[in-house]
Parts: sequence; C-alpha cells; structure tokens
Amino acid sequence: MINFLKKLCFERLGGSPEEHKAARLIIEDLKPTGLTPRIQKFKVNTFKPGKATLNILKPHTRAINANPIGFTGSHSVRGPLEFAETGADEFLKGKENTLILLSQKPDYQKYKSFATNKIGGFIVVDRPFYPLAYPAIYHSIIREFGAIPGIIIPYQNALEIIDKPPKMAELISEQKEYEGNSRNIIYEIKGFAYPEQEIVIGAHFDSVATSPGAYDNNAGVVEVIELIKYFVRKPLPRTLKFIFFGSEELGLLGSSFYVSKLQSPDRIKLMVNLDLGGTILGRNGIIVSANQEAFNFIEGWAKIQAMDIKVTADIYSSDCMPFIDKGVPALNFYRTDLSGSGHSSHDIPCHLSNNALQYIINSAIVLLTQLGSAPDFPIARPVSAEITKKTTEYFNKRRGPNYEAFDE
Ligand SMILES: [Zn+2]
Repeated sequence: MINFLKKLCFERLGGSPEEHKAARLIIEDLKPTGLTPRIQKFKVNTFKPGKATLNILKPHTRAINANPIGFTGSHSVRGPLEFAETGADEFLKGKENTLILLSQKPDYQKYKSFATNKIGGFIVVDRPFYPLAYPAIYHSIIREFGAIPGIIIPYQNALEIIDKPPKMAELISEQKEYEGNSRNIIYEIKGFAYPEQEIVIGAHFDSVATSPGAYDNNAGVVEVIELIKYFVRKPLPRTLKFIFFGSEELGLLGSSFYVSKLQSPDRIKLMVNLDLGGTILGRNGIIVSANQEAFNFIEGWAKIQAMDIKVTADIYSSDCMPFIDKGVPALNFYRTDLSGSGHSSHDIPCHLSNNALQYIINSAIVLLTQLGSAPDFPIARPVSAEITKKTTEYFNKRRGPNYEAFDE
C-alpha cells in the first residue's frame, strides 16, 4: 500500500495535469479487479502556483519571501501596512488602500468587507516551523467580489513586522489562473439483494498547491483502493459505490458536482468519507454526521470492536458536506497527525505506515460488511436539526449565501 501511496506523492492541484496523472495511476492500479470505472468530468477554475514578495519600504527596506494566495491574481500594490488580526469591520473603516496583516485566512464575510472597504491587499501569516504554505480562497468568492491582492508570509517575518510596524510596504504577486479539467472516478459493486440501496465510500485524490499530500489525502485514496479490492471478491446485499473525488481542496468541487447530478439522493443510505489517515503517530476517529441514534449505534459498535477510536457527533470539512446538505447521513473515518505537516510540502510518506492504514481499512471492512448486510439499515434519516444547521453555516461561511454550484 505504502508503495503505491509514495507513487501518488506529487502536487495534484484540482484541475491540473498532475491531478489527471493521479487519476490515471489510480485506474491503472485497480485494473486487476476487472471493474470499469465511470469517469465524471467537470470544469474547474484553477491556478499554476506562482511567486510573491512583500517589500518593506519605510522606514527601512527589506524584501520578504511570500506565496500568493490562490485565485487572488497578479498584482503590484503599495500602501501602509497594519496588523488587523482577523480583519474585523471596525478596524477596516477608513483603511482604503491599506495592506492588512491577518492572523487567519478571510472567510466569505471577511473577504466581502475587504472588498467593500477597498483595502489595498491582505497578508496572511503562516503557522511556524513549516515550509511556507500556499492556500487558496474559494474561486466562487473571487467571482462575486473580484480579486483583492493576497499573499501569505512566514510567521517569523510577521513577528518582526508587528514589533517594528513599517509605514509603507509593497505587495507583489504573480500567478497564472486557468480553466482546468477535473474528474471523479466512480466504481460500483452492485448489491445482490437490495441493489437500489447504496452506500457511497469516498476519498479525494487532489492536494493543495505545493503539497505532495501523503496524509491529505493519499492515505484515504489507498484505503478506498483496498476496500474496492476486498469487496469486489465479497459483494454485499447493498450496492457499494466508491468515488475518488477531484478538486476537494478547491472547495469540495468534485463531491458538489457529483451531488448536483444525482437523480435520487434517497437511494444513498449513507456516505462514508475517508480523509486524513495512515499516520504512525496519531489517533483514529469517526465523525458521525447524522442523528443521536446513529451516534449511539456507532459509539456502541466501536466498543464492541474494542477499538481505540474516538467517536464524535459533528460535521467534517470534506466531501461528506454536499451529501449531508442533501440530507444523506455521513460517517468520516480519519486519523490525527502529530507531525502537523498537512497542507505543507512536508506532507510526505515518512510520517505514514502500512499498519496505520490497515487499522482503518479493517475497521471499515467490518462496519461496511455489517451495514451493507443488515436487513434493517441501522443509520436512518433524518440528519439532526443541529447537524443540518452546522452544515448550512459551514457553507455560508465558505461560499456565501449566493453560491450556485455548477449551474451551467
Ligand atoms: Zn483532505
């Protein structure tokens, strides 16, 4: 497993030729199963990672190496530089053309008020001790409010800036955006007793810019590959649909596209998502996005299996979200990571092992076998009001209320 995982370790930004290459490798690996995948293609706005610099001009001069924030365009702008923490509304008044330093990436509302207040640009501070990250803003937000110059700088440089605030700075960023082709890869193992009832099992196979994405999410990909290889030999009464989703990191685009094309979401009894796994040092967890009864069931089930696995009732920021939004209950298998290397160029296979991957695979095999065979499906609709509310809030925070997915 780990060998195939290593083979998949290269930057695979949604919609890029590298993401396409990863799709081909996955399909190739699954050829011996004899299954033919359905490829679901969709267009995405994507970018080619570029370069950025923050030049401090007054009172001293200094050039700080930075990365652009994905989709914020190419710019060269000057202005006073101020620390704005999260960029609260009260702070932004009268800050036209000011470059603001932020302790977190803006969400939909924050970005909207940056646009309304005509700030000059924003500078996100990265977490310490890792190579500089390359995050992106959802393209749908840029589409609504236009591109505001945005970059990310190292933590240490941010401390220096706050210690000696510069009077004038210059933000330079360069990045190419284009329309790319992304895809979902779908495998089906038909149920022999209740074929019209489906369990969807998913993992995204793209990565963020500059990251080889071993933990996030080649781990989930190889876990799903192993599940397909197992269940192709042992089909269940219910249909299992395995989906490798494209462009998750660009805003859950593959799973959103899949859900937008569904004729009858009611066929799907459950969505099981595998995102983040395989770390040698970490702990296993299942997040239940359903209702109290389903939570009790999974918690009891984990105890019966004598599994050291933490069961939580919540939402999970991954491909399960568009399904929950359609009323489909979801489970997320994940493993935490002590190295903290996710979403960086240090997300490499040395933190992962076959044993850790196998633990999740074995748990998933046991649970899917039971769920796929139970005469009365133990995880029933509806999704609780609390999870539904959290899901709506989640999408509003990231996409805003005006978002329309794939309305072409
Ligand atoms: Zn992920």
